Amino acid sequence: MKTYSVAVIPGDGIGPEVVNESLKVLKAMEDVHGGLKFVTKEFDWNCSYYLKNGRMMPENGLEQLREHDVILFGAVGDPAVPDHVSVWELILPIRKQFEQYVNLRPVKLLRGLESPLRYKSHQDLDFVVVRENTEGEYSNSGGLTHEGTPYELAVQNNIFTRYGSERIIKYAYNLAAKRSKKRLTVATKSNAINYAMPFWDEIVKEVGTNYNVETQLYHIDALAAYFISRPEEFDVIVASNLFGDILSDLGAATVGGLGLTPSGNINPEKKYPSMFEPIHGSAPDIAGKGIANPIAQIWSISLMMDHLQMPELGELIVNAIEEVLENTAIKTPDLGGKNSTEDMGNAIVSQIYKLGL
Ligand code: NAD
Ligand code: MN
Repeated sequence: MKTYSVAVIPGDGIGPEVVNESLKVLKAMEDVHGGLKFVTKEFDWNCSYYLKNGRMMPENGLEQLREHDVILFGAVGDPAVPDHVSVWELILPIRKQFEQYVNLRPVKLLRGLESPLRYKSHQDLDFVVVRENTEGEYSNSGGLTHEGTPYELAVQNNIFTRYGSERIIKYAYNLAAKRSKKRLTVATKSNAINYAMPFWDEIVKEVGTNYNVETQLYHIDALAAYFISRPEEFDVIVASNLFGDILSDLGAATVGGLGLTPSGNINPEKKYPSMFEPIHGSAPDIAGKGIANPIAQIWSISLMMDHLQMPELGELIVNAIEEVLENTAIKTPDLGGKNSTEDMGNAIVSQIYKLGL
């Protein structure tokens, strides 16, 4: 029996609602596989925890998480707590301390769904955004000065290290080399962000010589437009922390919205646990209604299976999601339907049993 320990942080808003459905899928993985066990441990670290304790997680929170093989994360964020607090005290420390330097965000139009982009088909929309996940624009360096004067000033430093840039660029090249198009697109803004971005382009040039992969350098603004006008061109896209975040939300919109797309925060060396979550947030506007789409969270379990080197289980999950979308009438409101989070979760779980391994 192969046993994995999974730390579960449902978080806020729709987080617990969609995590609940994804845990059913995790259980189904054990059943269809036979020799597999996931021991889950839930952590109630979220904005309510903050309002009670004055912090998002206990002082030894990271130590507690470190003992697990993987982390399943819902989403954090509540209108009662400033977003920079919930993000900087929970999710960013996990990503940074556990060197989850790869944020893997597949953008793929699933069977049974149509893209809002007219004339774009399933073959046209199938790429992966590789987002740098530990440094770049999401840095804690900077500050406010001259507060209370007309000269008040905010400085936010972007941190790009050679080490941090090289490792994400290498990862992206390795991934591109394994995929069919063998093309890597690099998102920068080298004309205006004149230290960090040319530095990235330089490293891309150095690293790229070792791979049989075509390299495209695009400015982020033009690239955003190409995401809409010619997405079929893309295969693997590597981007800094902020650019990758924005591009993957944009990519999500081209394949049906934020309720669908997953995200893996990966420490490729497996020195620390990796973390799996949807790309969306806690969606306070629909929380508590039981109507959030659980597909993004469930798809994140598929990325978890890939990471644990059980790609056949990862594929089974995506197949089951596609079966439901293509061959049943079950749709949550974001997809134009009337079904609940639970209806969608249950339908996917029964497809998993039906398809089997
Ligand atoms: P959001 O992703 O929560 O919501 C954006 C829009 O998408 C909303 O209209 C929402 O209803 C919709 N949506 C999101 N997920 C959905 C789902 N599964 N099914 C159906 N519709 C869905 O982004 P936001 O509104 O910018 O942020 C809300 C809160 O989430 C903030 O507190 C923010 O800081 C936090 N946030 C957290 C994370 C994270 O935990 N990783 C990521 C992004 C935002
Ligand atoms: Mn985002």
